[in-house]
Amino acid sequence: MIVTRFAPSPTGYLHIGGLRTALYSFLWARKNSGKFLLRIEDTDLARNSKEAAEAILEAFKWTGLANDGEILYQSERFDLYKTYVKQLLDANKAYKCYMSKEELDVLRESQMANKERPRYDGRYRDFNGTPSEGVEPVIRIKAPTEGQISFKDGVKGEVVFNVKDMLDDFIIARSDGTPTYNFVVTIDDALSGITDVIRGDDHLSNTPKQIVIYQALGWKVPNFYHVPMILNPEGKKLSKRDGAVDVMDYKKEGYLAEALLNFLIRLGWSHGDQEIFSLEEMRTLFDPSNINKSASAYNAEKLLWLNTHYIKTLPSERLIEELKYFDVDISLHVKKDVLIDALRDRAKTLKEFALHVRQILDTPQNYDEKAVEKFLTPQGIEILKGYFEALVSNGAMSETSEFELFTKDFLEKKELKLKDLAQSIRIAMVGSAVSPSIFEVLSIIGYQEVVKRIENLISYLRRDYEQ
Ligand code: GLU
Repeated sequence: MIVTRFAPSPTGYLHIGGLRTALYSFLWARKNSGKFLLRIEDTDLARNSKEAAEAILEAFKWTGLANDGEILYQSERFDLYKTYVKQLLDANKAYKCYMSKEELDVLRESQMANKERPRYDGRYRDFNGTPSEGVEPVIRIKAPTEGQISFKDGVKGEVVFNVKDMLDDFIIARSDGTPTYNFVVTIDDALSGITDVIRGDDHLSNTPKQIVIYQALGWKVPNFYHVPMILNPEGKKLSKRDGAVDVMDYKKEGYLAEALLNFLIRLGWSHGDQEIFSLEEMRTLFDPSNINKSASAYNAEKLLWLNTHYIKTLPSERLIEELKYFDVDISLHVKKDVLIDALRDRAKTLKEFALHVRQILDTPQNYDEKAVEKFLTPQGIEILKGYFEALVSNGAMSETSEFELFTKDFLEKKELKLKDLAQSIRIAMVGSAVSPSIFEVLSIIGYQEVVKRIENLISYLRRDYEQ
């Protein structure tokens, strides 16, 4: 069975790069009817907080990538980690190192002076003597001292590290007893039965250390897939300066989770020229061995394009739910379906959609001066007044088609064209000359309010002329 995991460190927020590896891990597990686990790597008590973990989980929940089983918190597992440190000590695969900070500094300086890579020299590896007083030891693992550590990465192919270049007997537990990062990652991956580790290639240099730990404990090394970073359009690693990297910012800006996920799957993976993937399609088509070897560039336009597509095709009930986040609740509006149909193709984001809804449902507080000047000429005003009177004497209407018939009939009688009236109606309804089809807008706003808004504009214009 394939078991994958997402293991964020709660240092602030869910980064879109993290979400991308979570998506890949999720898809790979689901495709194989496996398991996708979630683990919070919160052992760095100084840098991690409960709030940050909650923020990550909230963002994760929004994306809909459901995890299997209980969420594992590393901060609750210190005792467990200690038993494995002890096991390695007992097996003589790890040892206590009593080197003081000063001694370490001296060693580092002399290595630097000799143009050598700073590394621990193994001086306590086979120490039998009496340790100096007052130094709380750290625990170091006995790492190979020569040769190579290699593994087959599912993205990068064969990866080889020369032990001399990058390994020493690294610390697995600090002098206060707390285990170190690579140690706990390995213990948890192994105990959770993780078979496939998909993560950013910024972790590549941790992998040989983790392999040393797997081997010391006699555990099977999982498959690794190291995914290249997301770059900004200038080819540098994507950062906050490039705009949103926090997943929740995408929600706030009005992106749909499905659009963001679709965007992220394509950032680093492809299936021919296909751009749009439903979650179901992602699940059937995704394979980590097709992850691109080179880094991919963030493309804001593409995301916007995808979002527009998903807004157009989202079921209305979902759209209504999503709009509530932007303080727009149209669930009880009698013309909600007309409203959604009229606006669906006009918004690139939900935020914009909500704004458009408000523009129609809220009585205009002011009017676009330029539009007023252009369309509400003395003749334009006369036509609008005539329309107003005809509306009042006609009595209530409700459907889009009724407004349309009535308006066309009015124009015909007056020997006018729709363009002689349409923009004035728009200005009366929404305050500007931009709106969806006016008959839909009239029907959504409703007869009483339509009459009131035209009356408002006429009295505003009168005031204008009287001044
Ligand atoms: N906690 C690490 C991070 O947030 C991920 C560790 C891993 O995937 O192995 O970058």
